[in-house]
Amino acid sequence: MEEITLTIDGQKINCPPETSIFDAAELRGIKIPNLCYHPDLKPFGSCRLCMVEDEKSGRILASCVTPVAPNMLILTNTPRIKRHRINIVRLMMAEHPESCIVCSKGNRCRLRQIAAQLGLGETDLYPMPNYRTLEQANPFIIRDLSKCILCGKCIRADHELVVVGAIDYNLRGFNSRPATLHDLGLETSNCTFCGTCVSICPTGALAPKNTHYVGTPERESVSICGFCGVGCSLNMGVANDRIIETNPSHIKNSVNGSTLCVRGHFAHDFLNVKDRLTDPLLRVDGELASVPWDKALAVVADRLINIKKEYGPQSVGLLGSSKCTNEENYIFQKMARVLLGTNNVDNGGFLNGRSALGVLDQRTGGGCRVNPLEGLETAEAIFMVGADPSQSVPVASYYLKRAAVKGTPIVIVDPRKTEMVVFSTLWLSPVPHTDHELINGLAALLCRKDAQDDSFIESYTEDFVLYRDGILGLDLERICRLTGVDMKTMEDTCDLLEGKKITFLVGNGILLQRHGMLSMESLLNLSLMTGSLGHDGGSFYAITKENNQVGAWDMGAVPGELPGRMALNRDLARHHWERVWGVKISPDQGLNMVRMIEEAEKGTLKAMYVMGENPLRALPQGERVLKALGRLEFLVVQDILFNETAKIADVVLPGASFCEKDGSFTNMEGRIQSFKSVVPPPKNAKADWEILDLLGKQMGYPRLYGKLEKVRTEIAQSIPMYAGLDSTGGVTWIREEKDKRLFNSDGQGALIPFSPVVPIEDEVDDNEYTFRAILVSLRYHLGAGTRTSHSERIRNLGLKGELTISPEDAATLNLTDGDTVQVQSLYGSVIREIKMERGLRPGLVFLPTACDGNDVLQLLDLSQLGIPDSPGWKECRARIIPL
Ligand code: SF4
Repeated sequence: MEEITLTIDGQKINCPPETSIFDAAELRGIKIPNLCYHPDLKPFGSCRLCMVEDEKSGRILASCVTPVAPNMLILTNTPRIKRHRINIVRLMMAEHPESCIVCSKGNRCRLRQIAAQLGLGETDLYPMPNYRTLEQANPFIIRDLSKCILCGKCIRADHELVVVGAIDYNLRGFNSRPATLHDLGLETSNCTFCGTCVSICPTGALAPKNTHYVGTPERESVSICGFCGVGCSLNMGVANDRIIETNPSHIKNSVNGSTLCVRGHFAHDFLNVKDRLTDPLLRVDGELASVPWDKALAVVADRLINIKKEYGPQSVGLLGSSKCTNEENYIFQKMARVLLGTNNVDNGGFLNGRSALGVLDQRTGGGCRVNPLEGLETAEAIFMVGADPSQSVPVASYYLKRAAVKGTPIVIVDPRKTEMVVFSTLWLSPVPHTDHELINGLAALLCRKDAQDDSFIESYTEDFVLYRDGILGLDLERICRLTGVDMKTMEDTCDLLEGKKITFLVGNGILLQRHGMLSMESLLNLSLMTGSLGHDGGSFYAITKENNQVGAWDMGAVPGELPGRMALNRDLARHHWERVWGVKISPDQGLNMVRMIEEAEKGTLKAMYVMGENPLRALPQGERVLKALGRLEFLVVQDILFNETAKIADVVLPGASFCEKDGSFTNMEGRIQSFKSVVPPPKNAKADWEILDLLGKQMGYPRLYGKLEKVRTEIAQSIPMYAGLDSTGGVTWIREEKDKRLFNSDGQGALIPFSPVVPIEDEVDDNEYTFRAILVSLRYHLGAGTRTSHSERIRNLGLKGELTISPEDAATLNLTDGDTVQVQSLYGSVIREIKMERGLRPGLVFLPTACDGNDVLQLLDLSQLGIPDSPGWKECRARIIPL
């Protein structure tokens, strides 16, 4: 399209025809005052401060909503314009309460800044403050709508960016204000407390709620959110070397743009709690006491080396962290393999479906690793299985909601009517564990319609005939009976998907379910059959719960793989790392985190080093884990909080949180984000990589790093997919642009085989434990809630973690909302209030994790978690006893 040329303030500017005058001016760095404009929102033109003058016609135009025209002559700051702007601001100030001196927005208030730019100290008009009652019943946001200037940014952010629809304009004229339905408090609305409105509000009308005075930030620095796998870019406000505020960084091309979720925005207050570890602790005469670093590290080095000498390398286990950085996990697993000679190394990501995710990796040779979330907004169709991103990875859910608003068909497969279902075109609610059959049934229907992509299958796959024969032989009536999804819904789904490249999104509902690996195989088959995999408009997204779950795996903090996801049992892989590290690597398979606990229970594992994980809270059967850890001869915990596991350790080493150190995380898209420390670690705490480096010295390792840059260089030089990681920081991706697609552009990638169709057995009903209890996430907590449960704001929410049950089951048990029940499984029990949920399949109950010390894990069996495709990952048979 031909560009338009116009002149603004004497400067010639070329831009596309649909550009607004405001944006055209920005291209040349010409700043026009504004209050209602935001680059991520549709222009609104309400504040009128951005008015400019058309020199030819003399007309005054609102520049944000007026498109450029050829040969326009625009002036942005004439005396006439300035007079108008001054009048607008005078009127706004006359309506504004005189509370600037105590306003938490302080000098960051845009109204104050613009008034100052225009030379206005105070208004000379009769003051008519529009006083409103302060709204602060919820623990996150204070609304002082007396300060609202009706720019509409909060409403537009709510509708356009996070697509929640909690607020809209209420009333007209002088009384008009953004309000919830019926003007009730935010806590009674569908607001998710993502805080996007707070960070986008130009005045102090919306502010984060603090439980005590924290002042205004002295400075702000960028970091990466330390909670979930989306890896949002943050602006962290600092006062007295403490983080007092968090906002989106608004950096262009960041994964989150101007949004965050409730955890990222409000739960980082956990960083300042009194349970932060600040000094090394050593157990002396049964009590933990502060000791200098030298002493603590000498004890750790001495005990680990002696235990290894006495019992052999398999007697030591190291549990790294999907919350720690890439560099830290790299050094950690290296310490296990090089200094202790064991592959007993794992990280908490094990609990988030590594075996099912591994299927994707193995079948595609790692070809599905890079999928920017923005691809969701351009997908042809989205097929979402067992995922509730609005709770687990809320910022990723905004992409899906925006895609739905644009008209992208979304199919949701989930036994529960999740929040995302209202955005879907079709919702399939199968009986738990039957997704595999359902997916194969859909493939069979598509195949019967001859809707497979023959050219794709021919070019890139093998064994299709075997697969086709397998699915065409399936008994579809049995599948409908088994899954509980009727034929009409299956056919409607196929009609919707036919001829489209499908984008798949999977979550823990499939990754952690029984037959999860089989379900992933069947999804992959479906994606191959429809020619979706690796093509624009068709990708695979796997929700990763923890912020660096991907990176910890990539760095080899797992028992069966060396860094770079190289299989330990491959000679070539071991030889590669033997050359890099200059030692022989043991080919003995290591223990995963559950097996470590079991070996400790048996007395064969003698020492454990736990960095940034809390097995006593994150694993089922806490009593059993406690006993197992109690049998160890030596337990080291390196963490930022004095958590349940730290309390029973022999040595506790105080680490640093993400914003107190340099490092990098790899998010669920495959984006490697480097960051710098924002504040120093508290008191004597140290960055975890530094602790490991110092410990290496104590253990006699001759090649110390000393600087983080050296670790990064070693990673970049030895792990090809991390070749972009360098000391300059910033963002890079797991692979280069040309490798982002599964197949080379010349179509010469390796052929991907279809996997055979394996039917699953019908499950036998359990007459004693008649319910299935499924564990689900809440957006307020992450994983086991080790960090979020320390957030005062989250605690003030008073989550009860109610059990949700269908009204039919509640009626059978003679229960009503708020009644208390005991949920019993074969392994343990918990007590909960109940909440009825309409539309829930009878026989299913849902329990949120992380509440009440994460006690719901007592319902699961620890040993079952150790097996791939375990039936005990996130659900169990249960009975409900009314109390
Ligand atoms: Fe942090 Fe995840 Fe929320 Fe983003 S979506 S703010 S990364 S918790």
